Amino acid sequence: MSDHLAAGYDLVIFDLDGVVFLIDKPIPGAAEAVDRLRSGGTPIAYATNNASRRAADVATLLTGMGVSATPAEVLTSAGAAAALLAERFPAGAPVLVVGAEALRAEVRDAGLTPVGSAEDEPVAVVQGYGPEVGWKVLSEAALAVRAGAAWFATNTDRTLPSPRGPLPGNGSLVAVLRTALDREPDVVVGKPQPGLFTTAATLSRADRPLAVGDRLDTDIQGAVGAGMDSLLVLTGVSGPADLLAAPAERRPAFVAADLSGLFRPADEARVPATGGEAGGWRVSRDGDRAVLDGSGDPVDALRLLCGVTWDGVPVAAVEAGSPAAGELLRDWGV
Ligand SMILES: [Mg+2]
Repeated sequence: MSDHLAAGYDLVIFDLDGVVFLIDKPIPGAAEAVDRLRSGGTPIAYATNNASRRAADVATLLTGMGVSATPAEVLTSAGAAAALLAERFPAGAPVLVVGAEALRAEVRDAGLTPVGSAEDEPVAVVQGYGPEVGWKVLSEAALAVRAGAAWFATNTDRTLPSPRGPLPGNGSLVAVLRTALDREPDVVVGKPQPGLFTTAATLSRADRPLAVGDRLDTDIQGAVGAGMDSLLVLTGVSGPADLLAAPAERRPAFVAADLSGLFRPADEARVPATGGEAGGWRVSRDGDRAVLDGSGDPVDALRLLCGVTWDGVPVAAVEAGSPAAGELLRDWGV
């Protein structure tokens, strides 16, 4: 029986940006990883906080990059928000949509009536990222929430990636209303809330899902909240320094350089409970200090060090015991 990491799970749920693609280009090895899971009979889901595309559009985008996907495998925060609204409010109820056309379409398909003004007396405001969102519709939303409408945010990612650097994401636009209203949204749907992951597991009838992400503060925290094991890949936002300093609710079970980690032994990718030895590196602990020495693959050293920093050694108290270790710690900025 195979003991590779993915073999222990009956569903693999992928985040998209930073895991499967970077902005508009597939990450090398992603298409192969998805194909290999499929040919091994492991179901797949894609869970994205992005509320500006519909599931079918995301599937088309992925397929266009050579990554196989069907609309049914894609969960977006827009679709999930619309489903929640439809559970909460009667069919046909007016909902003020602040966001992209995709969000409006999801609201409509969920049997509700998208509206654009507080004067339509919406029962709820649903807010997701859209490049056309401006002061006018935010003002309508502020008026509607003050008049008693429930306020749903598809997600609160502060930024979204672009080729020119991070741009204001939905969290930044939610902050406009938060400031104006001096209150929080009633419901936040996307990661780090566990809803996208738990819905994916329910739809696949999975008992033992694995979540794969690139961000500790959304993907990994969402997986921990959902009670799922998670794999952090180092192809996106979160890096070694973030990982070493991660609080308990943002710690993945597994860390790998990229998706090829899914097909290597689980024990190789697992963060150990303490220091130890792996792949040419050794981490020894002395009270509140730890020393890294040896040389080898940086990710092996990273896992070993997480074992001690998550167990109470301050990141600043990690020392280098070899030139390669010194170089690595400098590279990571720790
Ligand atoms: Mg991501």
